[in-house]
Amino acid sequence: MDTLIVGGGLAGVLCALATSRVAPDHVVMVVEQGKRLGGNHRWSWFDSDLDIHGHALLHGAEKSRWDGHELRFPAFGRAMQTGYNSMSSVAFHDWAAGLLQPDRLLLDTTVTQLDEGGVTLADGRRIEAERVIDARGPHAIAGAGAAQGVQVGWQKFAGFEIAVSSHGLVRPIIMDARVNQADGYRFIYTLPLTADRLFIEDTFYSSSPVIDATARREAVWRYAAQFGTPTTEYSREVGVLPIVQSGNPDLFWPAGGGIARAGMAGGFFHHTTGYSLPLAVRNALAFADEVAAGQAPDANWWRDRFLQHWRDQRYFRMLNTMLFRAAVPDERYRVFEHFYRLPEPLVQRFYAGQMTWADQLRVMTGRPPVPVTRAIRALLSEKDHA
Ligand SMILES: Cc1cc2nc3c(=O)[nH]c(=O)nc-3n(C[C@H](O)[C@H](O)[C@H](O)COP(=O)(O)OP(=O)(O)OC[C@H]3O[C@@H](n4cnc5c(N)ncnc54)[C@H](O)[C@@H]3O)c2cc1C
Repeated sequence: MDTLIVGGGLAGVLCALATSRVAPDHVVMVVEQGKRLGGNHRWSWFDSDLDIHGHALLHGAEKSRWDGHELRFPAFGRAMQTGYNSMSSVAFHDWAAGLLQPDRLLLDTTVTQLDEGGVTLADGRRIEAERVIDARGPHAIAGAGAAQGVQVGWQKFAGFEIAVSSHGLVRPIIMDARVNQADGYRFIYTLPLTADRLFIEDTFYSSSPVIDATARREAVWRYAAQFGTPTTEYSREVGVLPIVQSGNPDLFWPAGGGIARAGMAGGFFHHTTGYSLPLAVRNALAFADEVAAGQAPDANWWRDRFLQHWRDQRYFRMLNTMLFRAAVPDERYRVFEHFYRLPEPLVQRFYAGQMTWADQLRVMTGRPPVPVTRAIRALLSEKDHA
């Protein structure tokens, strides 16, 4: 066994798929505790989040795609031209499980112990491998605190796929902030999956990770009524993602070898949106390229990428600090309202985590959405390590 990936979620599976495409002789196995790959998720991304190689990696997976999307704030609304994509974990499993060789995929199998030379399964079996990648998801940052080196706020959400006949929506509304601003910055996200099916998610940028799915369901059904009469609920997802304000990357991922980490487990997510798909795609392609070139990317290779990512995200952590520490919770929407008036290419680069210096300056110009003195105080109080 050349590479053993623990966790058949987004990052682990993409890594295995990308590698088997360019280096079919490299034996990669995925071990997943669930009966299916990908858990219970819906992943969405903008066209501009990925380059052509990234889009090619996801080619063949069933997904929804729209030519643009909308934003709605109390003071203004905006139609954006950037294409938007969404894929359910059901589609992800059907696609990926069909591509991975059956003898290289262990479903319904829990790993209880990982080390550099292999893993131990819950039934006591041992699988040896040249290298092990920990792609067990957000466990490494769940409940993160100083002990793991990061200070976080939360993006939490409950989404429901429901039947709403003749809703008439043709493009996603990725933020409708014209809702009651309770518990931090709140917005509702709506995807018109089919002519009579909507995915509606109630989302909060909150200081607390606690979310009441029952209350969110009621709120979503009330919101859906503007589009038609909601009837059946087909599925739901509940998520709590870390929004990093500051931290010490050496505590989160200490130096000195150890086990490679991919996906959320390795801190590979956008510090303001909590999203990880673009990074999972880029890392999978980079890992596969290394393998195809005859290299053997080890834990240090992954950690170096993490450290680079941490440095690249410094600006986003600063924005988060202003959002969580300088803006009054019920007024946090103003930060986003201010941001979404900016030119669309800048917004694209924001989501892709690829803002230029000029972009960063541009976001800070104009009438500040939070009081300057509070912003400065908040920034000075954070101990962030670049
Ligand atoms: C509800 C929700 C919606 C999200 N939506 C988006 C989105 O739209 N766009 C976006 O970019 N990001 C989104 N994210 C954030 C992020 O992209 C996802 O969390 C993504 O799935 C993370 O990928 P991952 O591979 O790191 O972890 P996961 O996809 O969570 O995969 C980890 C896998 O490891 C398995 N596992 C854990 N422990 C073991 C073990 N001991 N043995 C074997 N297997 C194990 C788990 O069962 C799981 O399948 C969302 C997150 C959530 C929770």
